[in-house]
Amino acid sequence: MSAAAIDQVEVAVIGAGSVGIAVAYYLVVERGRRRVALIDCRPAMSFTSARSGENYRNWWPHPVMTAFTDHSISLMEQIDRASGSRLDMTRGGYALASRRERPEDLISSLYRGYDGAPGQVRLHESAAAEYRPSQRGPWADAPDGVDVLLNRALIRRNFPSFARDVASVIHIRRAGSFSAQQLGQFMLEALAEAGVRVRRAEVRAIAAAPAFDIEMTSEGGAQRVTAERIVNAAGPFVRDIGAMLGEDLPVRCVYQQKISFEDRSGAIPRDMPFAIDLDGQHLAWNDEERELLAGDPAARRLLEPMPGGVHCRPDGRVDGTRIKLGWAYNAQASDPHAEEPLDPNFPDVVLRAASRLYPALAAYVGRLPRGLHHYGGYYAMTEENWPLIGPMRTTGAFLAGALSGFGSMAACAAGSVCASWAAGSPVPDYAKALSGARHADAALMAELAQLGKGSL
Ligand SMILES: Cc1cc2nc3c(=O)[nH]c(=O)nc-3n(C[C@H](O)[C@H](O)[C@H](O)COP(=O)(O)OP(=O)(O)OC[C@H]3O[C@@H](n4cnc5c(N)ncnc54)[C@H](O)[C@@H]3O)c2cc1C
Repeated sequence: MSAAAIDQVEVAVIGAGSVGIAVAYYLVVERGRRRVALIDCRPAMSFTSARSGENYRNWWPHPVMTAFTDHSISLMEQIDRASGSRLDMTRGGYALASRRERPEDLISSLYRGYDGAPGQVRLHESAAAEYRPSQRGPWADAPDGVDVLLNRALIRRNFPSFARDVASVIHIRRAGSFSAQQLGQFMLEALAEAGVRVRRAEVRAIAAAPAFDIEMTSEGGAQRVTAERIVNAAGPFVRDIGAMLGEDLPVRCVYQQKISFEDRSGAIPRDMPFAIDLDGQHLAWNDEERELLAGDPAARRLLEPMPGGVHCRPDGRVDGTRIKLGWAYNAQASDPHAEEPLDPNFPDVVLRAASRLYPALAAYVGRLPRGLHHYGGYYAMTEENWPLIGPMRTTGAFLAGALSGFGSMAACAAGSVCASWAAGSPVPDYAKALSGARHADAALMAELAQLGKGSL
C-alpha cells in the first residue's frame, strides 16, 4: 500500500446512505462508540437514498419483516418527537385496492403478517361500517392495524376517486410518508457533534488481518484507515466490498423508476393515502402503438400481462399539487457501474397503468405536463427480498445491505441492529433471521420461497 497518513478507528462504516449513516449513528448514540469512521466517495445521502419515495409501512406477509419495520418506525417516531417533527411524518396509511370481492389469500396474509395480534385486522362488510377514513394529520393520532373494506358503497364513500370496479380496499394504518433526507441530516448532525464526519474517499482495497487495513483514494490522494471492525453499507455496491474480502454476496441490483408531476386537474385528492393497485393488468394500446412496441425488443414486454403494484400518492404538502407515481415491474438485474437504465417509455407506461385505479389520470395520457421529473435507482436485493444485516463470513466484518425498496423506512432498525452486532451486543429476536445465517435455515428459506418477493 502507498505511504499515506494512517488513521486507526474501532469501526469503519463504508457507505453514507440512509443505512450506513444509521449504523454510525446507533454505534455512537446507542452503543457509545466514538472512534467511528464513516466513509463515502459521494456526498452523503446522494445515491440510492436520494431516489427514495420516502414511504413507510408495517405491512408484510411475514411477522419477521413486520417486527423489523415496526421497530424502525418506532425509532423514527422517537426521532420525530425529539426533533420537533423534523421528519415530517404523515400517516395516511397504504390503501391496497383490488377488483376481487373478497381476497381471502390477502386477508389471511394480513393475519400471518400481524402474527394474530388481537384487533389488528378489522373487516368491514357493510355500507354503514364504522371505519375511520384516511387523514394526513399528526401520526400520533392515527389508528393502528389494518382496516379491510369489503363493501362497494363503503369504498365509494371513502375513496370516491378510485375506479368504480374496485371491490375491496385493504387500508394499512401504520404507514405513510416521511422525509428520509431529514432523517439522514438529523443523524449526520448528531454524528458531527460527537466528532464523526463523513470522509470523502473511495474504498479500493481491504486487507483483512489482523485488523482491517482499508486503502482509499480521494481528491487529496491516497488515504488509509485501519479498523478493528468494518461495516459494509455500500448499497448497490455491497458486492464490491464483499469481493475485496473474498466473499461473493448474494445481492443483485434491479433498477426501478418513478415520476412526479404537477397534478393541475386534481386527479388525486390531497388527502388520499399512498394507494396501490394490487391487480395485474394488460395495458391498453391502440393498433399503431402495438405495432411500434412489437417491433422494439426492449419494449415488447409491455404488450404482455403486467404485474400489480402500480402506486400513486400526493407528494409534498397537503396544499401542494405534485403527485408521485411508481411501479416496480422491472425484474431484470443490471450493473450499477454502468449507465442508469432509465426507460423513456416509463412515464407513459406508469401513467396508463395508474389511470386504471384513478380514472381521472387518463387525462394526462399523451400530454404529461412540463416539469415532469422522471428518475430511478437500484433496489439492491437478495433472491427472497429480505435484507442482509449481520456478520459477514470474514471475522469482524458486518453487512447492512440488500434493503431493496424498503431501506429508507428500515434504516433506523437496520442501523440499530447492525450497530449491536458490530458492538457485540444482543440483537432483537427478529434480527437473526435477517442475517446471512438464514440461508442455512432450509425451513425458513422454503417458507420465503412460498411467500414470493413482493417488492414495491
Ligand atoms: C426508485 C426508488 C424508490 C424507493 N422508495 C422507497 C420508499 O418509498 N421507502 C423506502 O423505505 N425505501 C425506498 N427505496 C429504497 C431505499 O431508497 C434504499 O433501500 C436505501 O436508500 C438504501 O440505502 P443504502 O444506504 O443502503 O444505499 P445508498 O444510498 O446507495 O448508499 C450507499 C453508499 O455507499 C457508497 N459507496 C459504495 N461503494 C463505495 C466505496 N467503494 N467507497 C466509498 N463509498 C462507497 C455510495 O457512494 C453510496 O453513497 C426506494 C428505492 C428506489 C430506487
